Amino acid sequence: MTDLSERAAELDARDPLAYLRAEFDLDPGVVYLDGNSLGAPPRRVAARVGEVIHQEWGRRLIRSWQETWWTAPERVGEKIAPLVGAGPGQVVVADSTSVNIFKALVAAIRLTPGRDEIVVDAATFPTDGYIAESVAEMTGKVLRPVMPDDLGDVLGDRTAVVLLNQVDFKTGRLYDMAAATERVHEAGARVVWDLCHSAGVLPIELDALGVDLAVGCTYKFLNGGPGAPAFIYVPRRLQESFRQPLSGWGGHRDPFAMTPDYVPDPGVARARAGTPDILSLLALEAALEVWDGVDLAGVRAKGLALTGFFIECVDELAGDTVEVITPRDQRRGHQVSLRHPDARALVPEMTAREVIGDFRDPDVLRFGFAPLYNGYAEALRAARTLADVLATWS
Ligand SMILES: *Cc1c(COP(=O)(O)O)cnc(C)c1O
Repeated sequence: MTDLSERAAELDARDPLAYLRAEFDLDPGVVYLDGNSLGAPPRRVAARVGEVIHQEWGRRLIRSWQETWWTAPERVGEKIAPLVGAGPGQVVVADSTSVNIFKALVAAIRLTPGRDEIVVDAATFPTDGYIAESVAEMTGKVLRPVMPDDLGDVLGDRTAVVLLNQVDFKTGRLYDMAAATERVHEAGARVVWDLCHSAGVLPIELDALGVDLAVGCTYKFLNGGPGAPAFIYVPRRLQESFRQPLSGWGGHRDPFAMTPDYVPDPGVARARAGTPDILSLLALEAALEVWDGVDLAGVRAKGLALTGFFIECVDELAGDTVEVITPRDQRRGHQVSLRHPDARALVPEMTAREVIGDFRDPDVLRFGFAPLYNGYAEALRAARTLADVLATWS
């Protein structure tokens, strides 16, 4: 016990990212390990949203649309681009991840005529599977769910598009984006990557790996706030041929000309659909400033160290009662998932002791570690709290 406490204190003292915790408005008494569902609020967001409401909306009124608001989706996209390895002009922020999955899948199908199968990760976050099913029905394609490890069994000349998650939402497992992208391309198909649990977790190389399309959430590890709009990546080489189904005026080449015909914007803005949700979008813009000057390799190193230390603490304090289902090697994101038959009841018990994680059906406890604001002593306290609750039950 003392050994773990000493180690935690030492690791916290040597943590090069520890200074970032002060950027966040967090209750010091609470160990918050659910940033993989809803990231914590960066302090600067409240002031910025106040300014947007009082100044941009209250004083500039409708003029703000032309002054700063209309182009905000591309501007905020440029702030996300370096976090996902995208050069300029290829990321735009708009709508939700669910909506962007729909746009990306239909656009990918339009890029692959003569192919009739949509492959989707069988263990995917539900919305991805639901949307893929609807797209299959609408476009007359066949849906083929498959575990990512078995991708080779289904890929072929019928495959149009493959929708994959870089990090599995339930187990926290990290998949090899380079290898999977290559396999999909070898089959002549297109790949859409869902980065919801990997954006803000590790360096991502969308351009370098030749990824076709990608989408991701901004309210998880990017801390954009509840319901913050999602992003979509369309590389330059595909922009001219990217035809998404939601041809709203937001993606029009000249929206304010209000012409009767739809002419898509020549760039990534063609992935937009309707009027952007400015309050959430500008809250996200302020939240992303926290990443300025932060090296993603350092974030990744700390995330692996933090999750590794947590696994070690769990092994030592509760190892005989819970099973760690997240890979112990580097094939994991910044989430540790544990299995316990009473997982559902454990979460509220831990929350009552001010350690917040979450539950996923049927028996999984998830703990997300955000290197920007979580520390090693918190990891230890979470493991200890888990062990304490389990001890009261036995
Ligand atoms: C969180 C998450 C989503 C959420 O989609 P919304 O449209 O924002 O509700 C989608 N896919 C994955 C993999 C997720 O983890």
